Amino acid sequence: MINNCPECQLPVSSTAPACPHCGAPNPAAVDGTAVTTQKTGKELKRFFLLSYILIFSGCTTLFSGPTDSTIREAAVSMLIGGLVMWVGLKIASWWRHG
Ligand SMILES: [Zn+2]
Repeated sequence: MINNCPECQLPVSSTAPACPHCGAPNPAAVDGTAVTTQKTGKELKRFFLLSYILIFSGCTTLFSGPTDSTIREAAVSMLIGGLVMWVGLKIASWWRHG
């Protein structure tokens, strides 16, 4: 869609954030808010996946009964880290949407 620039009255695409002729900000520009929300949603999903992987890896490592205390501690840290991350993400998504 083509609109006229409010400053110089020359045609400006509605997707352009600013007028290419005079540089005035384009008020008709397609708002980037929707894209940003989608992007953060995708990022949240990625972190959710990561927290699930941490919880899952921690659980499977713990249930395999590691004799090495270092591995056991690492597994517990992964589990706790994953859980804390998951809770934080739950709060973050609740905060964003509700
Ligand atoms: Zn202009």
